[in-house]
Amino acid sequence: MKRVILPGSTGPDGRPATLGVMGGGQLGRMFVQAAQAMGYFTAVLDPDPTSPAGLVAHYHVQCGYLDEQGLAQLMQRCAAITTEFENVPAQALLSLGAHRPVSPGADAVAVCQHRAAEKAQFGRAGVACAPYAVIETDADLAAVDAALLPGILKTSTLGYDGKGQVRVATRDELAAAWASLKGVPCVLEKRLPLAAEVSVIVARDAHGHMVQFPLQRNWHRDGILAVTEVPARGLPDGIAARALDAAHAIAASMDYVGVLCVEFFVLDDGALVANEMAPRPHNSGHYTIDACDQSQFDLQVRTTAGLPLVAPRLHSPAVMLNLLGDLWFDADGRERTPPWADVLALPGVHLHLYGKASPRRGRKMGHLTVTAADADAARDVAQQAAARLGLPLLPAL
Ligand code: ATP
Ligand code: MG
Repeated sequence: MKRVILPGSTGPDGRPATLGVMGGGQLGRMFVQAAQAMGYFTAVLDPDPTSPAGLVAHYHVQCGYLDEQGLAQLMQRCAAITTEFENVPAQALLSLGAHRPVSPGADAVAVCQHRAAEKAQFGRAGVACAPYAVIETDADLAAVDAALLPGILKTSTLGYDGKGQVRVATRDELAAAWASLKGVPCVLEKRLPLAAEVSVIVARDAHGHMVQFPLQRNWHRDGILAVTEVPARGLPDGIAARALDAAHAIAASMDYVGVLCVEFFVLDDGALVANEMAPRPHNSGHYTIDACDQSQFDLQVRTTAGLPLVAPRLHSPAVMLNLLGDLWFDADGRERTPPWADVLALPGVHLHLYGKASPRRGRKMGHLTVTAADADAARDVAQQAAARLGLPLLPAL
C-alpha cells in the first residue's frame, strides 16, 4: 500500500494528517517530535500511561499491542503507521498493514525479532556474521561444534542491552547457561576478538531508493551503548564503504521500507561482520538530531508518510553520551538531579531527556550530543561533560 500523506493535509474524514507509532519509548517520542515539527498530528499505542512518547503525542491509545479495539482506534486515527521497537508482535503490524501503509512491514520486523532468522537474512544478503549454532533442543546442544567456544549464548527473541546473554567457555558452562535461560530457543555465537564496534543507519523508500548516514563508531559498557562518535575514526581503511554496502544489501534483500540500523563488529584482523539489526531508528543514531541536516527520525517520518528521501548531510562532528539512570544517584545512593547547568555551560552541548519519571540503574533516561567544528574538539568537550557528570572517561580511539 503506497500512499503519500502530505504534512498539514486533511484526510477524507476531515481529520488532520496523523502519523501513528507502535510503542511509546524514547524512540517513539523522538519520532513524534520530528513528525510534529513538520505539522503532522501524531498517535502512539503503548500500554504505559506515562510512556515517553505517549506524553507528547496528540493521541495516546493506551492498550496492549495485540488489543483489537486499540489497534482499530489507532488505524482510525492514522493515515500511516510505523514502529519504534522490534518486539511489537508482527501480527499487530500485519493486521494494521491490511488497512494502512505500515513501514517497516511485518515480515521485516519478524526477521529482526529473531536472532536466527536475522542471521539467515544476513546470509541471504551475502553479509558475514559471527559463526553460530541454533540451540532449540537437547540434541542441538549436544551437537554444538567445539569451535564455537568460548562463545556467547543469546536468547533468540526479546534480548536487548545485553539482557538474555550468557558468556560461556566450556560445554558444561553452555549447558548450565541454557538451563539458566530456561531452555528457550537460543543462538550460540562464537566470541570474536573485537577491535571496534560500528553501525550504519539507512533509510529506504517503497521505490527502493536508499540513503544513509555516515558510519558510526560505538562503545558499550555492561552491554549497553555508552558512546557514539561520528565521523568514525581509528578504523582500518575501507570499513565505512564495506559497512554501507552491507547495510544496503541487507535492506534490499528484505525489500525494506523505513529506517534500518545494522550493527557490525570490526575484528582484530580487519574483517567486518554483522552483529544484529534494528528495524527502526537506533540509539547510535541519536546524534543525527543535532549533527545532521536530516535526523534519523526525520527520515522515519518521510518513509512512513511516503515523502521523498534525500541524502542526509553531517554538518558537525559529534560525540553522543548515553545518560543512564545511574547518574540520578549520588555516591551514597541518594537520588539527585544530575548537574545539568554545569554540563550546559559547555559549548555545543545538546541535552535530550526522555521524560521518564523514575530513574533506575541501567535505564536510558536521555542522551547528550556534543557538536563542534572538528572531531577533536567534540571529543574534548564530551570528555569534560563526562567528567562533570561523573561518567567514566571516553574510551581511547
Ligand atoms: P542491543 O541493545 O544492541 O540490542 P543486545 O542485547 O541485542 O544489544 P548484542 O548486540 O548481541 O546485544 O551484544 C551486546 C554487546 O556484546 C555487543 O555490542 C558486543 O560488545 C558484545 N558481543 C556480542 N556478541 C559478541 C560476539 N560474538 N563476540 C564478541 N563480543 C560480542
Ligand atoms: Mg546490539
